[in-house]
Amino acid sequence: MTMIPIDEACSHVLDRCAELPVANTPIEDALGLVTAADITAAEDVPPFDNTAVDGFAVRAVDTATIGSMLTVVGTMAAGARPDRAVGPGEAMRIMTGAPIPPGADAIVMVEDSIVAGDQVSFTRSVQSGDAIRRSGSDVVTGTMVLRQGTVLTPAHIGVLASIGRLHVPVVRRARVAVLSTGDELVRGERSLAPGEIRESNARMLTGLVAQAGCEVVDLGIVRDDEAVLAEVLLDVAGRFDAIVTSGGVSMGDFDVVKAVLSRIADMRWMQIAIKPAKPFAFGLLNGTPVFGLPGNPVSSFVSFEVLARPALRRMMGHDATADRVRVVAVADEPLRRGPDGKTHYVRVHGAFEPDGRFHVRSTGEQGSHQLAATAGASALALVPDGDGIPVGKNVDVLLLT
Ligand code: AMP
Ligand code: MG
Repeated sequence: MTMIPIDEACSHVLDRCAELPVANTPIEDALGLVTAADITAAEDVPPFDNTAVDGFAVRAVDTATIGSMLTVVGTMAAGARPDRAVGPGEAMRIMTGAPIPPGADAIVMVEDSIVAGDQVSFTRSVQSGDAIRRSGSDVVTGTMVLRQGTVLTPAHIGVLASIGRLHVPVVRRARVAVLSTGDELVRGERSLAPGEIRESNARMLTGLVAQAGCEVVDLGIVRDDEAVLAEVLLDVAGRFDAIVTSGGVSMGDFDVVKAVLSRIADMRWMQIAIKPAKPFAFGLLNGTPVFGLPGNPVSSFVSFEVLARPALRRMMGHDATADRVRVVAVADEPLRRGPDGKTHYVRVHGAFEPDGRFHVRSTGEQGSHQLAATAGASALALVPDGDGIPVGKNVDVLLLT
């Protein structure tokens, strides 16, 4: 089978992953989701004029002469309603967030006050309007606070709460099932029999799917049994928005994922011109996207990053092409490789340094089974076909955070 370029594989996948429907979602569940409509405020924020400081509500003219004595006529906490006006020669104690009592037109900070019994004088004079936060000075009724297509941050959620919008129309969060295949795989802490290994991919992929912002269910291990796998996949396809499998997509005799999906789904089996993660399968099972990732843990990781993650993000309304930030980094050590027709996704760790550039070094062993060496990677360096990147030269990297 001829190898296809990564860009072709990516567009093939993205073209077949449709955006999920819009759901009016409680704001506490909407973090990281994408708004599906412009959001307009139906309330002013703040809802009323209030004080920005703890201090005294006064008539500004009464503070013109520093040292004049005013009579303290009451106290207002945040949440209180004024029970009297502030008249000439009077001051009312007031706490941050409390409404401005009628008659007052400025607030003097408590730090600028000297209290003596029921009298107060000030060490500073104020102007009308000082320390008053006007109604609508943050958000005016009728203005658009969030555009359609906004990726909701915690601060956006706060804004929605501030205008009393407790539900927001967003592209729904994808529900994704993760499963591993392989007769050699073991979950649990028991010691391994000869030939067995511990299952790690589904554990890792569950985390990666969650980090992509999806809801994820770890279905664990399915044995290399075609009938069982077919049953599980058909059931799962009806209940989830996407399925991520690991293992069984290469050229081996027991690659059951390949055997089963070829039969029950509309699949494309790809050999992609990248290393690691050359084998990759994608298709639709009764309309549900299935990502068939290779079993080698590092391959699984890389193919999730470059193929599955952008697609899951697109399904949730994100701009898949801008998913991971791509920067031109400096190789602080040679990133060696030989020509083989593939782009190598070298796992590197790196940081922005005082020269403003992102500097990278290899995380170490780069074998597709050596997950421990990959685990510390903060970026994937895209080392093009050829003899590698000499020390000090530029290399494109995808930041993994
Ligand atoms: P496969 O793609 O099924 O041929 O598996 C390729 C390699 O990855 C084999 O060495 C498997 O034992 C290993 N492998 C497959 N699935 C997992 C998994 N879930 N966790 C850890 N290693 C795995
Ligand atoms: Mg296998």
